[in-house]
Amino acid sequence: RAARAVMEAGEHVLMAGAGAEAFARQHGLEMVEPDFFSTEARRDQLRRALAAGQVALDHDTASGPLDETRKFGTVGAVALDRDGHLAALTSTGGMTNKRPGRIGDSPLIGAGTYADDRTAAVSCTGTGEAFIRVAAAHDVCARMAYGGQDLAAAARAVVEDALPAVGGRGGLIAVDARGRVAMPFNTEGMYRGLVRPGDAPTTAIFGASRRVPAPAR
Ligand code: ASP
Repeated sequence: RAARAVMEAGEHVLMAGAGAEAFARQHGLEMVEPDFFSTEARRDQLRRALAAGQVALDHDTASGPLDETRKFGTVGAVALDRDGHLAALTSTGGMTNKRPGRIGDSPLIGAGTYADDRTAAVSCTGTGEAFIRVAAAHDVCARMAYGGQDLAAAARAVVEDALPAVGGRGGLIAVDARGRVAMPFNTEGMYRGLVRPGDAPTTAIFGASRRVPAPAR
């Protein structure tokens, strides 16, 4: 709701900290104490990260197989609407045991999130510092706009070349202006789904996709 208020007010693109809270309050949004966001599962993750001396992605597989019960990672969405407009959003808790004040790639337009009607909408997940360093989401669109690559090639180049070159682990979901979709990742798996009008939704975690029934209406 706060993000929507910033978008609809139209004056600024990105707000943070005390000013953002004041803006939300002025726009009549519900305010909660910080401990509203503190859950036992998250505190448990933090204790484990502290004990291991790690700053960790909660859904990273580097230290073991994907844990089906712990799907707390980034939630991203990209969409193409009937008028040909593209949109992207990304929401995340960031990395576990990050320093206070650390800002990841998810809210940074061009890094973890980007949409441009001329090329594509992109939402990223992974080790945010690398995605910031290569401006990953914008890089997909730039490869299409300046280099003439199609979405699949541009997304693959970012995930398989640009990100690993700076130690980046993760993936992205993207849709282009013609409705083509790419969802590459350089990790063991990435939770993802796709829905088009008239088609049954599909979801996938690892390489192969699995059909799921359409929700009852
Ligand atoms: N990219 C996010 C960050 O670095 C984390 C994530 O994808 O879960 O903050």
